[in-house]
Amino acid sequence: MALSPYLCTNCGFWQRSFAPPTHCPVCEDHRHVLPDDGYEMLGPEQLESRSGVVWDELEPGAWRFRMAEPIGIGPMGYVLEHPEGNVAFEGCGWYSDAALDFIASLGGLRVVSASHPHSYGALWRLTERWPEAQVPLQVADLPWATAFTATRPYDSALSLAEDLTLHHTGGHFAGHQVLHDATRRILFSGDALKLDLDPQAERRAVGISCHKAFVKNVPLTEAELRGYRSTFAPLDYDQTWTPFEQGANAGRAAALALLDEQLAGTPHAGFVAVAQ
Ligand SMILES: [Zn+2]
Ligand SMILES: [Zn+2]
Repeated sequence: MALSPYLCTNCGFWQRSFAPPTHCPVCEDHRHVLPDDGYEMLGPEQLESRSGVVWDELEPGAWRFRMAEPIGIGPMGYVLEHPEGNVAFEGCGWYSDAALDFIASLGGLRVVSASHPHSYGALWRLTERWPEAQVPLQVADLPWATAFTATRPYDSALSLAEDLTLHHTGGHFAGHQVLHDATRRILFSGDALKLDLDPQAERRAVGISCHKAFVKNVPLTEAELRGYRSTFAPLDYDQTWTPFEQGANAGRAAALALLDEQLAGTPHAGFVAVAQ
């Protein structure tokens, strides 16, 4: 029997199995919530008909991929054009054939990765299309990478190019990682950070937070907050792109202000205002 990929509609996690899975490890993890009425698992053929994929270029050579109708928590995927080979970071819940053909028109992919399991999305579609792409993950999260295979486990940091570096943060997930783009001055922060966006301006953050579990409002520990701070402080960046928000006005200063406030008091999972 060939293993088929299945998507959990409650969270958007893909897993491979010989039959529709009866459990989802992401939903059953303490950071998530179970579906009220049981699981619904979809196969690729259902995704292709259920929701289209749309993409746009938010900054020069930085592309965002979204499902027209998000399924699960609805992570967005990014493709960064780079002279040494393009990099995909974070996984859109689905990549249609048209989306894959568009990425091919940009020159394909040299690297495929994501911050942590909540935003793996359909990375397996990218690794199937570009089987030669390197797939780096921080070693602690390898147990979650079951729909695709990590080819480059690493420990604390991994350079993808002179201006693109993965950094292990831990915290939200044990193997959580961020991608720093020094040329575009963007931190792809995964769920290490969360932005509250201005409803009138989708690139403008009015609040910033960090958490162990966002929906359940669980904060990080002091050691985890200090770990984030020591990772972010040496990085120079002006923008923070989570799997769900692309804040153009929240850079390193906003992140450090958030972390310093938490470390000076009691850690919490609420938003702190971004200085405008
Ligand atoms: Zn799930
Ligand atoms: Zn997450």
